[in-house]
Amino acid sequence: MIKDKTTRLICQIRGVVQGVGFRPFVYRQAVELEICGQVLNNPAGVIVEAESDRQTLELFLNRLRTEAPPSARIFSLEFSFHQSVGYSDFQICRSDDSGKKMFTLLSDIATCPDCLAEIQDPSERRFAYPFTNCTQCGPRFTIMTDIPYDRPNTSMKGFSLCADCAAEYENPQDRRFHAQPLACARCGPQLTYLLQSGEAVDCPDPLARAVEDILAGAIVAVKGLGGFHLIADARNRKALERLRRLKTREYKPFAVMFPDIAMVQKHCFVNASEEILLTGAEAPIVLLEKRVDSDLPDVIAPGNPSLGCMLPYTPLHFLMLAKLGIPVVATSGNLVDEPMCTDEGEAVHRLAFADTLLVHDRPIVRHADDSVVRVVDDQIQILRRARGYAPLPFLAGARKLPRMLATGADIKNTIAISHDNSIVMSQHIGDLEAPEAFDAFQRVITDFKKLFSWAPDMVATDMHPSYFSHRYAHAFAKEANIPLIEVQHHHAHMAACMFENNLEDEVLAVTWDGTGYGTDGTVWGGEFLKGSYATCERVAHLLPFGLAGADAAVREPRRSALGVISETQLDSRESICLQEMFTPDELQGMQSMLATGMHTARTTSAGRFFDAVSAISGICRKSTFEGQAAMMLQHAAGGQLGAPYPFEVFEVEGKSVIDWRPAIASIAQEKDARIVARRFHATLVEMIRVVAAAVGCSQIVLSGGVFQNALLLGQTRRALLNDGFEVYSHQRIPPNDGGIALGQILVAAHQKVRG
Ligand SMILES: [Zn+2]
Ligand SMILES: [Zn+2]
Repeated sequence: MIKDKTTRLICQIRGVVQGVGFRPFVYRQAVELEICGQVLNNPAGVIVEAESDRQTLELFLNRLRTEAPPSARIFSLEFSFHQSVGYSDFQICRSDDSGKKMFTLLSDIATCPDCLAEIQDPSERRFAYPFTNCTQCGPRFTIMTDIPYDRPNTSMKGFSLCADCAAEYENPQDRRFHAQPLACARCGPQLTYLLQSGEAVDCPDPLARAVEDILAGAIVAVKGLGGFHLIADARNRKALERLRRLKTREYKPFAVMFPDIAMVQKHCFVNASEEILLTGAEAPIVLLEKRVDSDLPDVIAPGNPSLGCMLPYTPLHFLMLAKLGIPVVATSGNLVDEPMCTDEGEAVHRLAFADTLLVHDRPIVRHADDSVVRVVDDQIQILRRARGYAPLPFLAGARKLPRMLATGADIKNTIAISHDNSIVMSQHIGDLEAPEAFDAFQRVITDFKKLFSWAPDMVATDMHPSYFSHRYAHAFAKEANIPLIEVQHHHAHMAACMFENNLEDEVLAVTWDGTGYGTDGTVWGGEFLKGSYATCERVAHLLPFGLAGADAAVREPRRSALGVISETQLDSRESICLQEMFTPDELQGMQSMLATGMHTARTTSAGRFFDAVSAISGICRKSTFEGQAAMMLQHAAGGQLGAPYPFEVFEVEGKSVIDWRPAIASIAQEKDARIVARRFHATLVEMIRVVAAAVGCSQIVLSGGVFQNALLLGQTRRALLNDGFEVYSHQRIPPNDGGIALGQILVAAHQKVRG
């Protein structure tokens, strides 16, 4: 049988995979499945490239995970799908031994099948013990206080091993030989149940109490692996409505934890790749398409056709969900986008609105939020890189990087550090505007210096002068007396996307997002950049418009609407739409702001352009979280495109400006919001096609938060591939500002080389 080798899988496997017969094992599987490609050792573990059809590759992936040689241990298996390059056979290649291993610290690993079987077996001494782990699984990054990774350098140091555990630790034949966090009910961490006041409840089985309360409608704060979750019955509309009120979180979707994969499948569609992600060692939240017959209430993710799903990833979660037998909402225990709360003393204050708290006495050394992943059009997209992925390094190929700290962007912040040929991205930190997040940002930088025994020789940061991360970087560089390079926001997006796709030559980057400081001091966000790592040129952009109240427009899509309508100079008919959105006084105030430029920003932001159309069509006029208006506009399209609206392109100083005013004039007359949504998405795809054809660069990268929009991403990819371009997007690095820090490192490193 000839296989249709259209897809290439790239898979980086970490763990004990060298010198244990892993490469011959991969080879045998590949040959059996008639897969072409190669396998080689690299400093991070083993890297596999495999070409076949999608289905065979997914089967192959599953075999790599489940049929590995007995002495191999897989701690992480990261994969992405690409265009095939035409391998003609399968080979075991010479190892790539460039680079050192010093930058590899382990991420936390979901409970392994052996440990799961043990905690369910009444004859085992770890039956029902919520802190069971082994060398194959358990906490790592979240319990390390220092290197090397030995028990005294973890938050388990306060627990001395009982005789049975000590014997396991010493026995080379045992599954727990040198398992640093091993423990049992006799010698390890214990659960406690707390009242809202912080007072401990005297009860023999805190877990059973928590389960009882959750079933009765309570909101319970549960201390997990990388922080606290607020947990409530996912079927209980009243409890969830109360949770929304208490968290002042009106619409932003909640994640759901299910007892097992079968129950996920009852409520959502799960394809093979999604199942591999859900059940993998990283155990992220996977965004899945909800089934229409799912009876979970809409309040979990209002108006959203997808649902963020995860499976239990610690014995504690597993035991709890098994007892509950129902899905629960598990949302991070915080108010805004700040890091997860990690300490019970802090939790009693920060999560004072929880009814009760289920806590334990194993300290969490550093926060790690749940990672968020999805599959779009047969590609992987990591939207939030945190637990399970951080702080695994990215290898930078043949590059030799300076020791650099990159402070990222202010929204969805992560930081990154580099050394030699690795780049380590931190776990997701949050929006630095929140004091807790800014504290965590500083803590993570100090933490990374210590954990990696590393200090920077230079600093890279965003150009935005009022970013917290920017000001911090300047102070840091001054104090350490080291050079600093400012990197333009969208150039960093572009570099991050080039990097993960191994691109070196010139590309056209479509970088569309909400806000990024431009080299001309205006707010960019609908950009087409041509160039490479060291330099790039802005070759095209959306026509700018005014934002009355500048930053206030993020929460009020109607302000973006006013901006584009004013630019379009529509007649009286369209002013009806403005009268619906504003009181006469408001309208007058904002129009005069636009006229005078006072408290007004000029922007080319594609994110705000989405907001404008969302508001004009009446889909969303007030936004309760970043990206809500755009998300609702996408959902309104129902996965389909319509005919594109008209637009024009004109030249200003050698740059193409996309004039969207004809489109807005049509949209203002459209009655049906669903049609607006479909035609608007098609218009954006068409704009990208037109610019791509005019620029004529064969490689196109798509980056920026706007490409979290699966409809836009999928349709743009398809259209550009059809037009004969090579199209690259993000799979392992977030397309949003979570990927900025890594991009900053690459741009700054290349600029340094060029002097
Ligand atoms: Zn285990
Ligand atoms: Zn013990």
